[in-house]
This record gives sequence, C-alpha cells and structure tokens, in this order.
Amino acid sequence: MANEFDEAMVLPPLPQVTEETRPFWDSCKEGALKLQRCSDCSEFRFPRSVACPACASMSYSWEPVSGNGTIFSFVTFRRLYHKAFASLLPYVVAVVELSEGPRLLTRLVGLKDDDTVKCGSPVSLRLETISDDLVLPLFELAGTHG
Ligand SMILES: [Zn+2]
Repeated sequence: MANEFDEAMVLPPLPQVTEETRPFWDSCKEGALKLQRCSDCSEFRFPRSVACPACASMSYSWEPVSGNGTIFSFVTFRRLYHKAFASLLPYVVAVVELSEGPRLLTRLVGLKDDDTVKCGSPVSLRLETISDDLVLPLFELAGTHG
C-alpha cells in the first residue's frame, strides 16, 4: 500500500474520524466521495451539518459526487512545517470547488515540474490510501493522468 508518506517515517496529522463523519471517510475507502445531500432541496453540502444550509431541512442522505471541480484558491508550501511533509516539498494546498457546489480544503498531487496551477484550473479526485483505516480525498489537475 504505497503512498507519498512511506519515506517520511513520520505520519502527517490525520483527521479524527467521528461517528458523524464516518460516512464521508468510509465513502473514500469504498472508492468514491460521498457528501451529505438534502432530501428536500437536493443541495450537496460540506462540511457535515445537522441541517441543510439552504433550506434548514434535517433530512439528508450520503450521495456520491462526481469528483470533478475547479481550484477556487491555493497556496504553494515551500517551507517545512511538519516533518511528515518533508518529501512532498513544495506542495500545493487548495480549496477545490466541486461541480456540485461544496468546497473542500485538500492537497494537489501528481504535479509535474511544468504544471501550472491557477484559480479556475479543472481538477479531479484522487483517493490516496494512508492506512487500512484512512483514505484521503486529494485532487490532481484534470487530464494529467489517465
Ligand atoms: Zn435543503
């Protein structure tokens, strides 16, 4: 189960999976990204919430999203803030706006030296296995792999 952290010896800070967020993380392990979708107005939402921000309905289900989106904002980290990320420098942390609407804070992977990251660049989901219990929803520039 190779991942980018194998050489680092130190695992990065990992998300705390709770009962409320487990469907999100389980969906990543199952190979798709699912977000809460309002059963009344059909809006997707993220992060998880009890009520729909659009219509206040408490009724929802976890539904898959396309995994396609665009870069809303990003920053390139060139300085080391955590040992686990040493082998990744420089790396790009981005806010990705999914085509379904919600925005996720994530990291871009698979960048090549001549890739240009810009706000509005299309991206697609790339699930990265960190451990048996954790798969992270990361993103890559659309059309760079395949
Ligand atoms: Zn709603």
